[in-house]
Amino acid sequence: MESMTFVLFGATGDLAKRKIFSALYNLYVDQKLPERISIIGLGRRQLSHLDFQEKVKESILTFSRRLEHNASEMGGFLDAFRYSALDVTNSEDYQKLLQVVKQRENELEIKENRMFYLSVSPEFFDIIALNIKESGLGRTNGWKRLMIEKPFGHDLQSARELNDKLSRAFEEEEIYRIDHYLGKPMVQNLEALEFANPVLQSIWNQEHIANVQITASEIVGVEERAGYYDQAGAIRDMVQNHMLQMLMMTAMHLPEKINASEIRNEKRKVMEALRKVKKEEIQSQIVRGQYISGEINDQSVAGYKEEPGVNPSSKTDTFVAARLWIDNPFWAKVPFYIRTGKRMKEKSTRIVIEFKNTLKLHYKDNDQKVEPNLLIIEISPAENVSLQLNSKNPSKNGKIEPVRINFSCEQTGVGVPEAYERLIYDALIGDSTFFAHWKEVELSWEWVQPILEAFEEELLPLYEYQSGSYGPDAANSLLLENGFKWWLDE
Ligand code: NAD
Repeated sequence: MESMTFVLFGATGDLAKRKIFSALYNLYVDQKLPERISIIGLGRRQLSHLDFQEKVKESILTFSRRLEHNASEMGGFLDAFRYSALDVTNSEDYQKLLQVVKQRENELEIKENRMFYLSVSPEFFDIIALNIKESGLGRTNGWKRLMIEKPFGHDLQSARELNDKLSRAFEEEEIYRIDHYLGKPMVQNLEALEFANPVLQSIWNQEHIANVQITASEIVGVEERAGYYDQAGAIRDMVQNHMLQMLMMTAMHLPEKINASEIRNEKRKVMEALRKVKKEEIQSQIVRGQYISGEINDQSVAGYKEEPGVNPSSKTDTFVAARLWIDNPFWAKVPFYIRTGKRMKEKSTRIVIEFKNTLKLHYKDNDQKVEPNLLIIEISPAENVSLQLNSKNPSKNGKIEPVRINFSCEQTGVGVPEAYERLIYDALIGDSTFFAHWKEVELSWEWVQPILEAFEEELLPLYEYQSGSYGPDAANSLLLENGFKWWLDE
């Protein structure tokens, strides 16, 4: 890998402490960083290089997946770090930063390849990008790249404005937008499941699939994020990004060549074919809910409106379910259902593909119920693929019953790279497969925008659902109307 500089804005923040330093360290130990790398941490307060290095070390000792650390390896890693105080709005600070970057490039004979990772509040993304351009930090003989994490805007218009500003300083190919769901191994594995298995590929269409169900449920409530969440709701926090990304990954069509640009192309086509929900139809396609108090794992928990920091008359959605249609020749007849919520009965992100049950009529005189075949992809916390088939049970007089063939993809433990490691590594080598392209982000906002407006105009009810449940009953009706049910709910 070519030598480079990694500039980390927000290096004194929580994300850097919990995720980014450990990710870089693990890449270093696994020899996935270039031999010559300069890492420059930036934060508002003054810190000496040594104090900063000490902080980095502490974070790694606390949060790294590795349990043992080799002192000389750690020393070598920390040597790469320097610190510079910078106020994102002060253009002189960028000049100082440029000097630090250049000095280290000279000292270490590093090429002018520069990665800018913005681990700061999204309100600063545009001003930082502008200053990178104006200070000359972005004028390099090598490559320059920008890594940012959602939220990318608050609605369609603000997302477009942000992108316009970013694109004055960086080309689209230089922007790596993290959607950490795309860093999850089982989401990445969807590509292989669909495209590397002719058996599955040949039935991955409306001829054989009855419906697709994508669930992302959490047990936790709003936690300490009320300030952000009460403005965002599940629709912005989960649906616009993670849920639609999982939908794209499931519904994309086999490209001629499997590579980053073709895969992103196919994902974009899914979004282009996604049927827009008309405002007058929203009530029949979308369900929104908000949790009230209840019990989870024998513990009483408060309702959303009672949570600290939440407006007691809040109308924010903590649950959204939707029925979506993809108007293309592969999927036009297949409903895709999504649902996501907080304070639900279980923590689970999963995709269930229900196949058409074309043989059940053959059994209709035998008093024998034949369940449909299911492909169940568990994304988190379990990482598992299973196929539900029907089989005779000899201990029940040969009654046909569903059985599950499980393929555990569980890869936990100290040896397995975490999402941030995988994503940072991909960005360093310039592989954008598992990052969100602007077109995907924009099309997602376009789909979500009328729903945001309908929520604001209160065109649909905000159902209450008990904490510890699977959400409002209306989310079950969405499927019942088409003769289906959510699979795996207990
Ligand atoms: P944080 O508040 O802990 O840290 C913010 C950082 O920004 C600090 O280093 C601070 O010095 C710096 N900063 C603030 N104002 C500044 C200014 N005017 N000039 C220069 N630097 C300034 O925030 P965080 O939790 O680390 O989150 C950072 C970003 O990552 C946010 O966009 C957040 O949404 C995102 N994120 C965080 C997490 C997480 O687990 N913490 C997870 C996913 C995404």
